[in-house]
Amino acid sequence: MPNINEALKVDFDSHGAMVDRKKMTDVGFEEYNKLRTVIQTARKLLLLDDEISLFDEINRIVCEELGFSASVIFIKEGDIFRTVSRYSTDPRTMNSEISNHTMPVGVIDEIRRNAAPIGNLYWLDGRTDVVQKSLGSFIVPTPNFDAAHSGWHPLSVLFAPLYDRDGELIGLINPDDPKDGTLPSDENSLFLELFANYCSIAIELLRARTNAASRIRILEAQRAQISRLFETTAASKRQEQLTEVLNDFARLMAEAADFQRIVINLKEPDTTRLQLRASFGLTKEEEETLAINAIDLRQFEPLTQPEMAIGGVYFFDHNRFSLPDEVWSMLAVPDRTPHEGDAVWHPLDSLTIPLFDFDGEQIGVISLDEPKSGRHPTPSQIETLEFFSAQCEAAIAQVVKFQRLERQAQTDDLTHLPTRNFFTLRVDHAIERAKQSGQKLSVLFLDIDKFKNINDTYGHLAGDHYLVACAKIIESFASDSTMVARYGGEEFTILLENLGQEQARTEAERIRSAIEKMTIETDNKKKVRSTISIGVATLDPESGHQSYRSIASSDLTVSLLAAADKALYSAKEAGRNRVACNLLEP
Ligand code: GH3
Ligand code: MG
Ligand code: MG
Repeated sequence: MPNINEALKVDFDSHGAMVDRKKMTDVGFEEYNKLRTVIQTARKLLLLDDEISLFDEINRIVCEELGFSASVIFIKEGDIFRTVSRYSTDPRTMNSEISNHTMPVGVIDEIRRNAAPIGNLYWLDGRTDVVQKSLGSFIVPTPNFDAAHSGWHPLSVLFAPLYDRDGELIGLINPDDPKDGTLPSDENSLFLELFANYCSIAIELLRARTNAASRIRILEAQRAQISRLFETTAASKRQEQLTEVLNDFARLMAEAADFQRIVINLKEPDTTRLQLRASFGLTKEEEETLAINAIDLRQFEPLTQPEMAIGGVYFFDHNRFSLPDEVWSMLAVPDRTPHEGDAVWHPLDSLTIPLFDFDGEQIGVISLDEPKSGRHPTPSQIETLEFFSAQCEAAIAQVVKFQRLERQAQTDDLTHLPTRNFFTLRVDHAIERAKQSGQKLSVLFLDIDKFKNINDTYGHLAGDHYLVACAKIIESFASDSTMVARYGGEEFTILLENLGQEQARTEAERIRSAIEKMTIETDNKKKVRSTISIGVATLDPESGHQSYRSIASSDLTVSLLAAADKALYSAKEAGRNRVACNLLEP
């Protein structure tokens, strides 16, 4: 009998390129050719892209090329092995019993313990006691057994194990009913073993590909969510919207990169102060603590040193770097006992991603903590985070840009004050708030006295300068709850939230007096002075017999402005350069 190991050696020693023909003749061409056929057929398994086709093809090869009449594949699912595919060269031998056959892991272990190994195959004769007495009920007998198959008992079992990369048993090829009716020859056993190794690789590769594909599907789904996010952003790009968008980002980012905690801090304009804008996975208390304790952008510097950078992400490994205590105290470090070991995530480890605007100025920082794997970040996690942080930067840039455009659209070119439309909108909102809080609210209507005279006397340009100077004076009285606008021409309006009639009158009086004292100089050194008349209207949500709560805020805005205009008219009538008040009557 030619030695198949020799044949293999010849082939593998020569890497398939320089086959020693003489030796080949010694071991026999028949076996060599069969071996090549098996290897070539097995290689094609790598091209299949669904498990069922792969298993069916494995069984077909076992029958058509390796001399069996039937073949079944079992795949391990938890603590059972389930039939996933079966094949027979004779349709009559397709036993329906086997179609959804399962075997407990314990039975497979029992078979392996009692089997006679042939290389890496397991062979158990159906005549043995263990099969006859205890395992027989789990083994489906060779169907349509006839006397011609004398050497093969109907309960005999032959298994070619399938292993994963880590050497874990993932399944079995179970060839049955050998065509020659005997136990396979050494050569055939070796072919089968070799073939099973190929099958293991093919299954592993297919599973890895399927995993990658499902990972991509998850990312695709997340991308769909992101594009929805962007649509939301595009529809209305206000600050509240940005907070919502950032919270969605925090969640998506944590899910995609497998982190349990994430915080997005954005820088307040023209400062280095950070503001908590969105988070995921924090407790309510942690969120509140972080929201109250303003963090400075500079405090993140020790966490974002160049030597910590992996692409755009900074990994602070507490084993390699150390941090001043005050930096730790500002971070929300999860309270858990650290695990031991290399590349294991420690509570003091952190991931930081600085966010930049298009001009390269830092606008915020994303912090991540507690990877689900419990390990240091992998390149694919880093890649995911880079992708999401770039999207996040784009979303922020979009909102910022929109706000700038909105401000431009709502700002008057000459005085840089908000325009009438914007003012009206703000009064609507303020009235809405006043209805909730019950606080009073006042609106001032200001009109420069005899402004036409300034234009007529000093020219339009001087008139413009006077208007700008008035705007500056009026604005200098503005506080946080005040809004000044250029309502039109030489008319200004002021919204005074939370101020009743008397306080508003005092405010108006101070402005009137300041304007009265103001002098501007024209280009040809002429002094320009004037005065201003102011109408005050106040809304007291608690007053009167009619509840203002039942009236639409926009209607109340119209009434309030009309009442202020009426008061202004009274002031003009009464001789100008004075303040007149009007309570909004129901
Ligand atoms: P009154 O005390 O009754 O308010 O008298 P007035 O002259 O201020 O009132 P009137 O409404 O008759 O005139 C307002 C003038 O303001 C008319 C218009 O030409 C002028 N005006 C409006 N907008 C501007 C501007 O942007 N620049 C300049 N220079 N003049 C403007
Ligand atoms: Mg006017
Ligand atoms: Mg006027």
